[in-house]
Amino acid sequence: MTTIATRPKRIRTAVPGPRSQALNAQREEFVSASVSPLLPVYIDRAEGSILTDVDGNEFIDFGCGIGVTSLGHGNEAALGAMLAQSRRFTHTLFTITPYELYVEVARLLTEITPGDFAKKSVLSSTGAEAIENAVKIARAHTRRNGIAVVDHGYHGRTNLTLGMNYKAQPYSAHVGPRPGEIYRIPNSYPFQDGLDGAEAARRGIRQLEKTSGAQNLACLVIEPIQGEGGVVVPAPGYLETLQAWCREHGIVIIADEIQTGLGRTGRLYASEHFGLVPDLVVTAKAIAAGIPVSAVTGRSEIMDAIPAGGLSGTFSGNPVGCAAAVEVIRQLREPGVLERTVEIGERIQAGLRALQAKHAVIGDVRGLGALHGVELVDAAGEPDAAAFARVHREAAARGLLTMAGGSDGHVLRLLPQVNISDELIDEALEILDAAFAAR
Ligand SMILES: *Cc1c(COP(=O)(O)O)cnc(C)c1O
Repeated sequence: MTTIATRPKRIRTAVPGPRSQALNAQREEFVSASVSPLLPVYIDRAEGSILTDVDGNEFIDFGCGIGVTSLGHGNEAALGAMLAQSRRFTHTLFTITPYELYVEVARLLTEITPGDFAKKSVLSSTGAEAIENAVKIARAHTRRNGIAVVDHGYHGRTNLTLGMNYKAQPYSAHVGPRPGEIYRIPNSYPFQDGLDGAEAARRGIRQLEKTSGAQNLACLVIEPIQGEGGVVVPAPGYLETLQAWCREHGIVIIADEIQTGLGRTGRLYASEHFGLVPDLVVTAKAIAAGIPVSAVTGRSEIMDAIPAGGLSGTFSGNPVGCAAAVEVIRQLREPGVLERTVEIGERIQAGLRALQAKHAVIGDVRGLGALHGVELVDAAGEPDAAAFARVHREAAARGLLTMAGGSDGHVLRLLPQVNISDELIDEALEILDAAFAAR
């Protein structure tokens, strides 16, 4: 490893710098305080894995806007596809006058999602919207109301998804009654519960049988690896046991792969790591290189449950977004791409484990591919949110952008480009080492 000193200096000013500070003052005047940036540096441009702010500071992007720009900022082929489509048309509305690209994205999704059965898709714009669609489809198909969700889960900020999220603060406090018929069970959280996966699942199943009853449940909505919840990787057997129980009782399994899908974990979908074959899978974030596109893909007989006109919206399956999606999916299916993400995961994990050996605040290191979490704990082993805040700030001051995670705000979450270079990984790990040492 070379040292930071031999590298070009990424940071030129205080972080945030003077121009960012001026813009931030304007934000406070004109933008609702309900929208608040994690790191108020204002971005001027971005390329590959590097964000450059308005003060000329560079940050290695270990967030990708929460796993959206997974194939790098300024991805030339995706930009080319968007530009070409923008010149042909930017909107017609698929439910008025359709176009081929929407059908093509739907067809590609049937090929890349888990499950060897006839599938169909419906496109929408945001992740939360697609989760709502998936729940509606499952309810219409089963003629049942209940939704099972998991502790530490996150599914969006629309009214239904607020009820499905684990955390009330800041999402759903004081904004009215939360929707009903939502039943929550413990997740599998090996670092915190020490349970084997099947036992953790059986605990949840017993709870659902008491609080809802299997015959009342339309669906189980679950992230195979929880993202916002702190990159919580379930113990082996957890998802398989829940899956077997859902199958037995006709409960639709909805995998929320909004964050974990499309190569993020070294497989096209994280469900594949766990033998999970969801009936419906929700894709969003990384699908269209930053253009809002989301999708529900699943068993054809379930996907047709709602009558014609019952789904979609004005911007659903935007053609420019679909053009990007076709290109993103093409790149992810190129030979060697997923293998490279697996290698990246091994390099990051080895580096983080070396940091764990040096810095006592690191309680747990976990993740797969380009999705990792570092759980920070105090001397008593309790969640240490203050440690996250310091490490995040010290890393930013050295030119590395990291994400927050965990229901207690104490998990450093890393989501780099899924084909980032070894050189940038090593530089990021050195910055993290210095950030941990500085705190
Ligand atoms: C981001 C996210 C959502 C919500 O998607 P939006 O596009 O922000 O509505 C839902 N579930 C998971 C797992 C996510 O990461």
